[in-house]
Amino acid sequence: MTYQPGWHFLQVPGPSNVPQRVMRAVDMPTIDHRGPEFAKMTLGLFDGLKRLFKTSTGEVVIYASSGSGAWEAAIENALSAGDKVLMFETGQFATLWHQMAGRLGLDAEFVPGDWRHPIDPSIVEARLSEDRAHKIKAVMVVHNETSTGVMSDIVAIRKAIDAAHHPAMFMVDTVSSLASIDYRHDEWGVDVTVAGSQKGLMLPPGLGFNAISKKALAAAEKSGGRRSYFSWADQLAQNRDGFFPQTPATNILYGLRESLKMLDEEGLENVFARHIRHGEATRRAVKAWGLELQCVDPAACSPTVTTIRVPAGQDADAFRATVLEHFNMSLGAGLGKVKGQVFRIGHLGDFNDLMLAGALSGVQMGLGVHGIPYNDDGVNVALAYLGNAAKSAGKPLAYA
Ligand code: PLP
Repeated sequence: MTYQPGWHFLQVPGPSNVPQRVMRAVDMPTIDHRGPEFAKMTLGLFDGLKRLFKTSTGEVVIYASSGSGAWEAAIENALSAGDKVLMFETGQFATLWHQMAGRLGLDAEFVPGDWRHPIDPSIVEARLSEDRAHKIKAVMVVHNETSTGVMSDIVAIRKAIDAAHHPAMFMVDTVSSLASIDYRHDEWGVDVTVAGSQKGLMLPPGLGFNAISKKALAAAEKSGGRRSYFSWADQLAQNRDGFFPQTPATNILYGLRESLKMLDEEGLENVFARHIRHGEATRRAVKAWGLELQCVDPAACSPTVTTIRVPAGQDADAFRATVLEHFNMSLGAGLGKVKGQVFRIGHLGDFNDLMLAGALSGVQMGLGVHGIPYNDDGVNVALAYLGNAAKSAGKPLAYA
């Protein structure tokens, strides 16, 4: 591989770009994780994370793991082998979580989906209403399906659970939504929220999170689920004093302290608005090109990732290879059932209007180089939208 000048455009939907401030924070001597300096830092992190998950009544735990570890923690702590749970096939990540649930011994019903629509809350209500014996112990959903760019409505699903008067726990995967899309653990009545470090939090991969309600903690105390490394009880017993039962990912935690600070400086509402704007600009470009979005419900299209179908007869992976070769940009691959049929543009984390302009330019030039026909100048359409948004906001849109 020869040297490629300029920045590599990392446009996969996570790991997202790690900003300089976070890189500098991570680049520090590793300190004693049983010492007082470390404890002081971590106690602040738990407070910051609670604000981010929007929980004041729940607990947050941090694992040295990827998001999948946090999936596993949710299952092993709150549930027991043989428990029935209700899950929804929104895409590849829902499929993988469902597979994991099966491997860990749950009786996991998987409501089929076409990977193009969000979860239908009326199915949640109907399925729970039929379950008069309350055998279903948890409803487990992916908020933002990173494989398809389709976002499900967590508030509507909560309402559906309530309408069925069902006591099932509610577990939500926010791996590609937390810190990018509005999310409220307490207010939305979520029992376990699953997240990871490498997307909205602008960190390197390596941390997994659970936010845990009182109801889920009580369920964990009663459940006979086998757990060891991921035990909430073990984590919380030490977290209270700022420590961890195992060796934590010390240097990524320094990064987390910085990224929480950056999110505070920008203001979460501004962060959410920025992601909505970039999702909209991207979809406008896609429509102008005449390409098809994987998400067919306009109200459910994701602010963090856009999944785009290539025309029949084209191979999306070959297109991604062309873009990488000619423009030094990594686009997200199609996963599972849609491999080769779609590519994904990640627009999340430490990202601004000009970075999006560059990414869309790379896609548009790539279409030309690769010989995928497109109609109009989608880049100009996106630029016009972004320019107007900046004008009407009347204030700088980047970090304060
Ligand atoms: N859930 C969602 C929505 C994801 O996007 C991902 C990864 O991209 C995961 C879970 C799994 O996380 P990890 O790859 O960090 O284990």
